[in-house]
Amino acid sequence: MNSAKVRFEKAQHQDFKLSDRIDEDLLETIGATQEMPKGAIVDMIKEYLFRRGKACALCKKTQHRKKLSINHRIPKSKGGRDNIENLQLLCARCLELKGDKTMLETRKKIRTQKNKIKQERKKY
Ligand SMILES: [Zn+2]
Repeated sequence: MNSAKVRFEKAQHQDFKLSDRIDEDLLETIGATQEMPKGAIVDMIKEYLFRRGKACALCKKTQHRKKLSINHRIPKSKGGRDNIENLQLLCARCLELKGDKTMLETRKKIRTQKNKIKQERKKY
């Protein structure tokens, strides 16, 4: 198995987790209640985000619903909340690239990588 495939599968299994007490505004936005099972709420969030834009928030490529995962724009580890403004859908490749970074940091990383490639090409 090549490494690209391994990375892809790992990203697919990366779980999106909600806080124990789900943000009331988020529930209201998607039309869910605190009593609903977490899995159902996650599905509703995904549906809501997917209806807004059927593409990856980072590479902007249109993707099948199954290939997109919910992600925090600002990771929870960096103070990001579970509100709808902080949630987005990413494809497996972008999800892996983003990791535990904010969108700003991720875009910066992409720019740096692109510049590196440009500089490498100049050498030849
Ligand atoms: Zn993407």
